[in-house]
Amino acid sequence: MARTQHGTYAGYQKHIEVGTRPCRRCAAAQAAYYAEWLARGGEAQDRRKAYKAASHRAKTELARRHPGEYYQLLDVELTRDREQVAS
Ligand SMILES: [Zn+2]
Repeated sequence: MARTQHGTYAGYQKHIEVGTRPCRRCAAAQAAYYAEWLARGGEAQDRRKAYKAASHRAKTELARRHPGEYYQLLDVELTRDREQVAS
C-alpha cells in the first residue's frame, strides 16, 4: 500500500479494497467520517438524495414521453416565477 494515505477515510477504503485490516489511524478516520455522516443526518439525507435523483429521472422520462405537455407546463411555471419576481 505504497500510495495509501493512512489516517484518512480514503486510506480506510483502500484497506477494504485490497483486503487488509484497516490500521488504527485509518479506522479512526473512518469512525470520525461515520460520526460526521450521522451528525449531518446520515441515512435520512441519503434517502432524500436518492429520492431527488429518482424524481429527476422520472420527470426526464415523463418529458421525453409527453414533450408538448411538459414544455407547456414548464412555460406556465416559468411565467409564474417571472410574475412573482415582478410583483
Ligand atoms: Zn491505514
